[in-house]
Amino acid sequence: MYEWTEEQQAIIDVVRRFVDEEIRPQLDDLEHNGMPPYAILRKMYDVFGLKEMAKESFARQLERKISGEEPARESRGSDPAAQLISTIELCRVSPGLLTSLGVSSGLAAGTINKLGTPAQMERWALDLMTLDKIGAWAITEPDSGSDALGGMRTSARRDGEDYVLNGQKTWITNGPYADTIVIYAKLDDGSGEEMRNRKVLTFVLDKGMDGLVQAAPMRKMGQHGSPTGEVFLSDVRAGRDRLLGEREDPKGGGRQSARDNFVAERAGVAAMSLGIIEECLKLSIDYAKHRRLWGTAIADYQLIQLKLAQMEVARVNVRNMVFAHIERSSHGAVPSFAEASAMKLYSAQAACQVADDAIQIFGGNGYIAEYRVEQLSRDARVLRIYAGTDEMQVIAIAKDLIRD
Ligand SMILES: Cc1cc2nc3c(=O)[nH]c(=O)nc-3n(C[C@H](O)[C@H](O)[C@H](O)COP(=O)(O)OP(=O)(O)OC[C@H]3O[C@@H](n4cnc5c(N)ncnc54)[C@H](O)[C@@H]3O)c2cc1C
Repeated sequence: MYEWTEEQQAIIDVVRRFVDEEIRPQLDDLEHNGMPPYAILRKMYDVFGLKEMAKESFARQLERKISGEEPARESRGSDPAAQLISTIELCRVSPGLLTSLGVSSGLAAGTINKLGTPAQMERWALDLMTLDKIGAWAITEPDSGSDALGGMRTSARRDGEDYVLNGQKTWITNGPYADTIVIYAKLDDGSGEEMRNRKVLTFVLDKGMDGLVQAAPMRKMGQHGSPTGEVFLSDVRAGRDRLLGEREDPKGGGRQSARDNFVAERAGVAAMSLGIIEECLKLSIDYAKHRRLWGTAIADYQLIQLKLAQMEVARVNVRNMVFAHIERSSHGAVPSFAEASAMKLYSAQAACQVADDAIQIFGGNGYIAEYRVEQLSRDARVLRIYAGTDEMQVIAIAKDLIRD
């Protein structure tokens, strides 16, 4: 695949129209007035029939689960191109919207579908996939971060048939508002096993459970369209029906499921980056052609042309990565951990560089919210941090290269 097909281009056009008519007018409220993103996302689901597609997608995954097959990971229909098109288009205006959506319908629902029993899938995942409910996926803790699994201290102590959960999660997307929270915790079976090596279990909690506190949204640099917050667990009692797979060693396990999610997230970041890059380039070309200094458009100056050319190189590279990913996904191929990490590392850095160059081309206007590139630059920055920092991507790639 080297170009969008006519059919895909038609999808791009209608999504773009929705973005222009329904999202752009609300950007100020999302960015500056703390408006949660969920009403816009639900409207998008209604307008494009995504709810029905999500239901069909859920039915396929449930059928596979019941017949003992691995459920294919899909959240907005089975066409990888259509899914990534909406990712790209949303990220042109509000990467935060996509973060909220991806965490809820992708990470949270995907983990439940992968590890859960059919009953657990029906209880929680369907509503997350249709956006009737909002989900969070909580692994990060104040003292773990990049060492997410080893450093995790949130514990699940056996108590009869139940588990009692204690701990704290931080920087959790949708954390302040989520109805359903997928929580990773270390098993405390009383054996005295060192914390670092304990089994990782995955639970599903519901808003309002005793001992579960979802803190208010944090103020952050960018992605204001995506609420982020802390989640506190203080003697939260969870029955075995809330333990995914209803066993302590489900197929795939907590550690493997976290790793699988990193692969999906990292590949998704390339599509997010492409949206940011394409929008910044479009805005920059337009600005450079119209801003006149010393009697000519700044686009005539070679130093500006160099920036535009470098932005175009980034766009072509990231687009090729996304196209290759779509092509492979449509044949059921999944990138390796190292390949997904390479895509994320390159594309996140490219998006940040392009957005920063866009600010430079806009000069003072680049620093002013009205011109939008400052928002895209702030929003892009977290792509180098979440879903594994740049440094973690480097380590994942290099380890794979030198493995015997
Ligand atoms: C907006 C936002 C949304 C998020 N959403 C979620 C979410 O929904 N769910 C969730 O669970 N988490 C979420 N996170 C957390 C995110 O995944 C972590 O921030 C990320 O994994 C990095 O962890 P840390 O911030 O603790 O950095 P640290 O791990 O403390 O790293 C600090 C620095 O040290 C570097 N470093 C660490 N180890 C090494 C090493 N071995 N070698 C070299 N350098 C190293 C890092 O690369 C980084 O530069 C979110 C974060 C943000 C900012």
